[in-house]
Amino acid sequence: THFGFESVPENEKEKRVYEVFKNVASKYDLMNDAMSAGVHRLWKDHFIQRMAPYPGTKLIDVAGGTGDIAFRFLNHIQSQINEDSFQSKADEDFEFPESELTVDLGNKGVNSSEVKSDSDSSSSDSSGDVCDDVHRDVLLKGSHVTVCDINQEMLDVGKHKALQCGMVSGISWLQGNAEELPVDSNSYDVYTIAFGIRNCTHVDKVIEEAYRVLKPGGRFMCLEFSQVPNPILRSVYDSYSFQVIPVMGQVLARDWRSYQYLVESIRQFPDQETFASMIRQSGFSMVTYENLTFGVAAIHSGFKL
Ligand code: SAM
Repeated sequence: THFGFESVPENEKEKRVYEVFKNVASKYDLMNDAMSAGVHRLWKDHFIQRMAPYPGTKLIDVAGGTGDIAFRFLNHIQSQINEDSFQSKADEDFEFPESELTVDLGNKGVNSSEVKSDSDSSSSDSSGDVCDDVHRDVLLKGSHVTVCDINQEMLDVGKHKALQCGMVSGISWLQGNAEELPVDSNSYDVYTIAFGIRNCTHVDKVIEEAYRVLKPGGRFMCLEFSQVPNPILRSVYDSYSFQVIPVMGQVLARDWRSYQYLVESIRQFPDQETFASMIRQSGFSMVTYENLTFGVAAIHSGFKL
């Protein structure tokens, strides 16, 4: 019952990957939570902490799918701006300055979370799970995220979530291939790719494109499943993923094959050191990686100097 991606010719892989994500798009978020028992959320939170973006950062999130990284990025920036506003208020010890934030929200002297609890219907309508931490009317001081994905179905799910939160500024959605990004060179401060690069046919092309689109000084960050070095833990993890995940895929999404593919693609992806040296070979400096959950996932990082 193997999906047999390893024997798929290169030019076929892209088409098949497209089909997989087209099939899973509507269930993607649910399945992520079910399969990882919510741990993917912690990894993504940690990834953003590591990035520590500052207001004004221009991010391109490639293979961005339904927007998990993009929403966390905007949320992080927004909370930084809020913190700064409070800090300057305390420091100056006089009337809260009429900042862009207060003008835009039409509520002088309060931050957006106060607006949320103070104000009327605009803050009390239901916005669902994804909006819990996302402030409305985000004013991001020039920060911006471009979510790029090859699959329009995944982007549509993400766009829908963003609209539910009233999040229209600071984010744009772009259909495109990570191996040939439809964006200008030297344009972004940070490039992220989370659980996306292993789905690409030519990993080296993806890294080269990351290098091209980053500004000098920009940072490449990749969150991806990786290899568990400890043999005992690895065998536990192997049994879980090969036996449990396709069954979950069948039960929750009626799609055994797509989830079988996901497991196989994880096993075929290069280990931490090999991937780090590929990143170095593409010209990145200061390449490092960090294992998450015993190496089940890893964060790789490098700078374009
Ligand atoms: N980054 C999101 C996250 O962490 O939740 C989505 C990850 S999802 C496992 C992988 C995504 O990679 C899918 O949305 C898929 O459409 C996208 N993808 C696969 N091949 C791609 C390519 N060549 N270029 C751009 N996106 C691609």
